[in-house]
Amino acid sequence: MKFIRAIPAISRETKAARSSGHPVVLVPTMGNLHAGHLSLIRRARKLAGAKGTVVVTLFVNRIQFGPTEDFASYPRNLKRDTALCREAGVDILFAPSDAVIYPGAHSTYVVESRLAKRMEGASRPTHFRGVTTVVAKLFNLVQPDAAVFGAKDWQQAAVIRQMTTDLNFPIRIVVAPTVRERDGLALSSRNAYLSPAEREQATVLYDVIRAARLAVKHAPAPLPAGVLRRKLSRLVAKQRLAKLDYIEFFDPKTLEPAKRVERGTHIALAVFFGKTRLIDNGRL
Ligand code: AMP
Repeated sequence: MKFIRAIPAISRETKAARSSGHPVVLVPTMGNLHAGHLSLIRRARKLAGAKGTVVVTLFVNRIQFGPTEDFASYPRNLKRDTALCREAGVDILFAPSDAVIYPGAHSTYVVESRLAKRMEGASRPTHFRGVTTVVAKLFNLVQPDAAVFGAKDWQQAAVIRQMTTDLNFPIRIVVAPTVRERDGLALSSRNAYLSPAEREQATVLYDVIRAARLAVKHAPAPLPAGVLRRKLSRLVAKQRLAKLDYIEFFDPKTLEPAKRVERGTHIALAVFFGKTRLIDNGRL
């Protein structure tokens, strides 16, 4: 595995990989790798093939965090991540510093202006601008044939797909399923912030998705979104340590809000446990 921290080196190595004629597949992450990330890396290997190149990036992207969010305390574990990537058969690990990606006078941003406005974008106004900017930079540096993202961040994948189309990046966007703990909690670096009591109650996110699936399954007709939202909000309210941010129903492709919820409608939600904000989503 090649371990790279500088721009000229990542450009040179990915150029060599592309000229081999085999696929180059990118997996962008913020590090502190868990089984969810590793499943993305396995998917990338399948797409790249044995002779192709899997590139993983580790970069905690300052500009996608709000001023009161957890950029400073976000878990970083470069040694462990490097070992995990090596074990997983990654070919190139790109772990640039903040100064390499944003040297002094950075003043250009990439903004997706439709899908990025609701849900996560409404709660975290500068978040997606940070995501699309760094992903566009990584796409330019690596120029992969495909890039793999997790369904865990459904809206993020939709925003990146839109950016890829709009800016004519010749890159296939692949979305891999959410990996969960045994009790249903989606794996996330932020789960490490939870106290034992919060961790116990955090299963409520998946409980909400399952309850919504059951409600849709047994409903004789599409359900009014407001009615279902109120019912599901009560599930969250029962957990003493949980504070609901939002529950939304929408079309999985266009992200258009759904007034009526039926089979195939998508649900997404965000819940606070103290300062920790968890998100999840699923198809109903
Ligand atoms: P992050 O390091 O949290 O920015 O995530 C990097 C990539 O891993 C993103 O595409 C996420 O959607 C994906 N990811 C994070 N958690 C999971 C999970 N539990 N299952 C599948 N993919 C995930």
